[in-house]
Amino acid sequence: MEHFHRRKGVLHAQSYACSQLAEEFGTPLFVYSREALESAWQQFSDALEKHPHLICYAVKANSNLAVLDVLARLGSGFDIVSGGELKRVLAAGGEPENIVFSGVGKTSAELTDALEIGIRCFNVESEAELDRLGAIAAALDMVAPVSLRINPDVDAQTHPYISTGLKENKFGINMDKAIELYQRAEQMPSINVQGMDCHIGSQLTNIEPYQDALERLIGLVDQLDSLGIKLSHLDVGGGHGICYQDEAPLDIDQWARCVIDAVGERELEILVEPGRFIAGPAGILLTRVEYLKSNEDKHFAVVDAAMNDLIRPALYSAWQAIEAVEPRDTEPKQYDVVGPVCESSDFLGKNRPLSIEQGDLLAVMQAGAYGFVMSSNYNTRPRAAEVMVSGDEAYVVRERENVEDLFVDESVLP
Ligand SMILES: *Cc1c(COP(=O)(O)O)cnc(C)c1O
Repeated sequence: MEHFHRRKGVLHAQSYACSQLAEEFGTPLFVYSREALESAWQQFSDALEKHPHLICYAVKANSNLAVLDVLARLGSGFDIVSGGELKRVLAAGGEPENIVFSGVGKTSAELTDALEIGIRCFNVESEAELDRLGAIAAALDMVAPVSLRINPDVDAQTHPYISTGLKENKFGINMDKAIELYQRAEQMPSINVQGMDCHIGSQLTNIEPYQDALERLIGLVDQLDSLGIKLSHLDVGGGHGICYQDEAPLDIDQWARCVIDAVGERELEILVEPGRFIAGPAGILLTRVEYLKSNEDKHFAVVDAAMNDLIRPALYSAWQAIEAVEPRDTEPKQYDVVGPVCESSDFLGKNRPLSIEQGDLLAVMQAGAYGFVMSSNYNTRPRAAEVMVSGDEAYVVRERENVEDLFVDESVLP
């Protein structure tokens, strides 16, 4: 059964009617399905079953403690990009030895904390970072486990803002510098060279960019091997695409076969860092229509969620499906679904056929990843509540913010 589905025409999250969720918890409201999170994670686990592997969920996609906890209970590892995410993972019961740390700008404080906590591996993104980490580890009389993030210079065939594996992107180490840097790292007594990683972009629905990147990475792995540098893991990053509109989502079995084939007989544990694929389809954003408004050319549905709640449409021109929770019998009209924020880019969708009246509920689908985590308080709007449905129960996993709390840390001049 789909985790979000219709019963007698009404959109449900598992066995919970979305209209009832809105009634109980108010709108705008993020609703997550525990079973959807688990089944997406399980796809990776099943597909990689026959090969030593670790699934490191990319925390930035949705870092709610309840989401992390659900995955930690399955035995998931985590890919973090900040000291804040490290604290969250630990608070949710994640194991330090299952954490990898990515990101181009790790501060000394973040590196020190992660080293002392004993994370599994640092995904180092530059020579300068390697030097900093080496010096910090030496000063603490510790040895830092390291993987170098390689920028394989492949076209991920995705939106430029979420493409990360081209030379012009800020991420990773260029192919032509890689061998030299591995050799340097190998000489550093406070560095333990363990692996190689890459992450070429997000929302990839084609297998070819993965194949291209793997071919290049495996080439490097073999070159290193011939120089006496033996790696124990290959981290292939995340980026697995989902269906927002009519794309075919990446086939995880096909993807896993491609990775396992590329690794072949080499003794490399496979690490993978999926974010969107696990969290995206597991969440929706419920919002209520405040006003309907028309002029000669256009119909607008002004809703109570806005770009501060879900910025993907404004930021990447992302398209997300918008459905009426209980569609009316009337002929659909084409609506621009817009929020109350004072920006023309404040829309959730344009030209959407909807049969609705004022006061009706809409659901923005596939909103579980890069949704709440990217939300802000712009226009002094309290951030939405988050609810997780598990079995027949719905739990608040983050309370709706209060307006007063938004400025409690501010002060006026004496
Ligand atoms: C964002 C990110 C991911 C997850 O990307 P998705 O497209 O959400 O799967 C994985 N690894 C790194 C290094 C990232 O920055």
